[in-house]
Amino acid sequence: MNSRCALVSQVIPFSCVDGPGSRLALFLQGCNLRCKTCHNPWTIGRCNDCGDCVVHCPHDALTLQAGRVWWQESDCQKCDTCLHVCSQQSTPMAHRFSVEEILAQIRKVAPFIEGITVSGGEATTQLPFLVALFHAVKADESLKHLTCLVDSNGLLSETGWQKLLPVFDGAMLDLKAWNNEHHRFLTGRENPQIKHSIRWLAQHKRLTELRLLVIPDHCDYFEHLGPLSAFIHALGDVPVRINAFHAHGVYGEAARWRSATADDVEPLAVALEKRRITVIRPALYL
Ligand code: SF4
Ligand code: SF4
Repeated sequence: MNSRCALVSQVIPFSCVDGPGSRLALFLQGCNLRCKTCHNPWTIGRCNDCGDCVVHCPHDALTLQAGRVWWQESDCQKCDTCLHVCSQQSTPMAHRFSVEEILAQIRKVAPFIEGITVSGGEATTQLPFLVALFHAVKADESLKHLTCLVDSNGLLSETGWQKLLPVFDGAMLDLKAWNNEHHRFLTGRENPQIKHSIRWLAQHKRLTELRLLVIPDHCDYFEHLGPLSAFIHALGDVPVRINAFHAHGVYGEAARWRSATADDVEPLAVALEKRRITVIRPALYL
């Protein structure tokens, strides 16, 4: 029995937007980027039990006991008030789950799904859990048919990816900007390690999808179309998914940025296709 645990913000038993086919999606709490455009900003931080959210809960679902915040799920009305008052971009509603507990949830839906995707936050910030979970899935006769994917920001080191290599089927990675300075403006971190992860995963046949995010007036892909296209070509036959920024749920200055429409996305999609790159367009615009 594997008792390694992770802090989990959400489990979605059936998702059709977190990788190919129907998948169980597991969202881990905590991220090492600070993206201005994050639409789940409460998944970024770790709760420090400050208790600030407790008095704001309109349904008495939160209490502070012996220095720890406790969430009473049965009283919670999912109003999200606690998320908005938290200065740590965290949530009092995250659960600690062991590998065995997650496996039990996967077994319930296994006949109806094609795989599992671990997302976040940033899934790889809880790497030992991730490796243990995928290892357990691959070792279980009743779960062997499931593919194990990671939705990642790509900041993980090569040493970290090597630990995942024997037990995972692929990663979906974002490249939020081509230019390093612009990437730092959008995410708080530089992008050379992310580009390295993308290349490394492609070399090892583990890059399921590269993702670009079109943010009107704040994306630099067109400015750097030549080097960006050359970079994508060098990856081999990897699909590029274009996501459209939407301001819904975003905190801070980006909440006032314009959401992307088909008119913002289409020129980039067409320009990449002209360069013989396979593009997946946004399924919907908000
Ligand atoms: S969720 Fe945020 S506000 Fe609530 S106790 Fe944790 S850190 Fe404090
Ligand atoms: S979402 Fe947060 S504030 Fe709202 S009822 Fe649940 S615990 Fe309370």
